Amino acid sequence: MESGAGLEEATRWVEELSSRAAGAASGAELAKLREAVGDRGSPLSALYRSMKVMDPALRPEFGRRLQELRLRLDQALEAASAAISAREREATFGAERDDLGAYLCRSRYEGVGSLHLITMTRMELEDIFISLGYAVAEGPEVESEWNNFEALNIPKFHPARASQDSFFLDFGEEESTLLRTHTSPIEIRLMQAQKPPIYAVAPGRVYRRDTPDARHTPAFHQIEALVVDRGISFSNLKATIESFTSAYFGPSIKARLRPAYFPFTEPSAEFEITCTICSGTGCRTCSGTGWIELGGAGMVHPKVFEAVGIDHRVYSGFAFGFGIDRLAQMRAGLPDMRVLPENDLRILAQFRGRR
Ligand SMILES: [Zn+2]
Repeated sequence: MESGAGLEEATRWVEELSSRAAGAASGAELAKLREAVGDRGSPLSALYRSMKVMDPALRPEFGRRLQELRLRLDQALEAASAAISAREREATFGAERDDLGAYLCRSRYEGVGSLHLITMTRMELEDIFISLGYAVAEGPEVESEWNNFEALNIPKFHPARASQDSFFLDFGEEESTLLRTHTSPIEIRLMQAQKPPIYAVAPGRVYRRDTPDARHTPAFHQIEALVVDRGISFSNLKATIESFTSAYFGPSIKARLRPAYFPFTEPSAEFEITCTICSGTGCRTCSGTGWIELGGAGMVHPKVFEAVGIDHRVYSGFAFGFGIDRLAQMRAGLPDMRVLPENDLRILAQFRGRR
């Protein structure tokens, strides 16, 4: 019967230890309880030892009862350990969550982002053209060779079509695709989709295999204006360029045209504006001429009209375009264009809040 009394004592001990484990506040406290379980002097250990001298007939049943107690104790310790781990994890995550919350609050307050200088410039240009009565058109950056070259009267042998100048994606049997080298294919799409009159600007990112330097990057942005209507003349083109120039740069900046060649316009011109750095008196930026080249312009070539199915005996039109990055560079007085795609916040933050 001594063994029965021993079992009762061991059961009480197991229950007490289990409830202490459940109330343990830390892993260290639990480790002390585990030590007590393993202690040779514990009631459970004493009972295991007593089995050696027990009547062999009673051993299996006694052993099973001891095993049950041991299992209850192990489970209680395990549950307590899991609960402590969960509490500790929650405390750590909670603290980190608070940190993150504080960080986000701080960044909301201190680090308000803004539009990129190029985006701001593009939106400003769009606004000017919209105020002049133009619509804004868009097109894909991956273009067919036909839209990018052929339809624009750029023949097969033209150097711009060579793979060293353009990023071809796929040389197809019938039709190759490439990253558009200018925004002009948007105009092709526009003229195919819409009957004249057309008054639209086409802004977008374009790609050329240029080695980056102070005035070139392999990916840059253009904006192109297109007008197709009855009776459009070269003087309309000149007047539009002048309206745009004074709207964007201010009335003191003048524009002038110089003869040039482009396959998709005839006649063609390059347009220059008064140097914004020296106001026309001559400086290093304008090589002492007082003028800076801004872009290209001209009357839409009859062959382009033919390609898109517009009758050039009824309609005429003009187009002019220029680089948005170039304009942003000039307006912001950036000596090197490469800072624009680099996204260095020390540069970009200077133009925050301009729009
Ligand atoms: Zn100058």
